[in-house]
Amino acid sequence: MRIDLISDTVTKPSKAMLTAMMNAEVGDDVFKADPTVNELQVKAAKMFGVEDALFFPSGTMANQTAIKLHTQPGDKMFCDKWAHVFNYEGGGAAFNAGVSSHLIDGERGMFTAEQLAYAVSGRADIHVPYSRLVCIENTTNKGGGACWNINELKKIKQICVDRDLAFHLDGARLFNALVAKNESPKQYGELFDTISICLSKGLGAPVGSILLGSKEHIAKALRIRKLFGGAMRQAGFLAAAAIYALDNNLERLAEDHQRAKKIGTVLESCSFIKTVEPIETNIVIFYTNDTIDENDFVTKMAQKDIHFISMGDGKLRMVTHLDFTEEMLDRLIFELQSF
Ligand SMILES: *Cc1c(COP(=O)(O)O)cnc(C)c1O
Repeated sequence: MRIDLISDTVTKPSKAMLTAMMNAEVGDDVFKADPTVNELQVKAAKMFGVEDALFFPSGTMANQTAIKLHTQPGDKMFCDKWAHVFNYEGGGAAFNAGVSSHLIDGERGMFTAEQLAYAVSGRADIHVPYSRLVCIENTTNKGGGACWNINELKKIKQICVDRDLAFHLDGARLFNALVAKNESPKQYGELFDTISICLSKGLGAPVGSILLGSKEHIAKALRIRKLFGGAMRQAGFLAAAAIYALDNNLERLAEDHQRAKKIGTVLESCSFIKTVEPIETNIVIFYTNDTIDENDFVTKMAQKDIHFISMGDGKLRMVTHLDFTEEMLDRLIFELQSF
């Protein structure tokens, strides 16, 4: 039995999802003639109470499109030092949009409104890059699936309004945060100019992300997606998987969170584990102590067909998801306790 905790992107479509895909009505989406893609976009926009939405092949492309649509080359964006948009998108902000990144030294991938206010300064000074965009991530990936406090986000939004900054949410795992915090999509729809969401992570679709925003922003995004090579034709087969995911796989994220917490408790009781970071959603980040090298631990567990990754700096990561079952959890616990 392979136990794959490398990421929540490893899930494969269930039979029911595959059936929904096979039965999708499709058309050429570049001509806006794919009814299933259109249905997904309308559905997602409605859920978040925003004007429009656009389907993307990846979360990276959705984020990069958002960065590009809010900025001009030479502008500056603000994000946490651990942000995916800065660390894990191939330098795309600089390459695609020509923007520099002002990194804020947050906690678990989250900074405060006060830190942002301090960072945003001197826009009138012609020497400094023009401050244009703030990107936050919820849940935070490198920050261990941490969820933002919505009141802090409201304060940050106010700074964005006062300083004429665009506000983008990298919501690759936003639904994990909504489930964990019992918050609604609309609370987020009204806070941000644009939101990207991955359908291919905890939600279990094989491919796809969605970008949400105003009609004006999504019209710009449509041009940029074309420019980036992301305009797809009969994408309805993929959109059908996304619709299935939104209809069936949201509430069950709570199970992933419970299993992650259980793993955390067991890890804490293992003599060779130094610390486990607080677990709020489906990401477990932990460190081994001096008795075992972290890479050795990864290799030895892989020999037992249990897979997870090292994120550098001694950080190890396990991510739970809908293909990680109760039976697999029991086996993992057994292997950890007898390691
Ligand atoms: C996975 C992820 C993305 C997008 O990744 P893709 O693999 O391009 O879909 C963006 N932001 C965060 C925080 C992520 O975890």
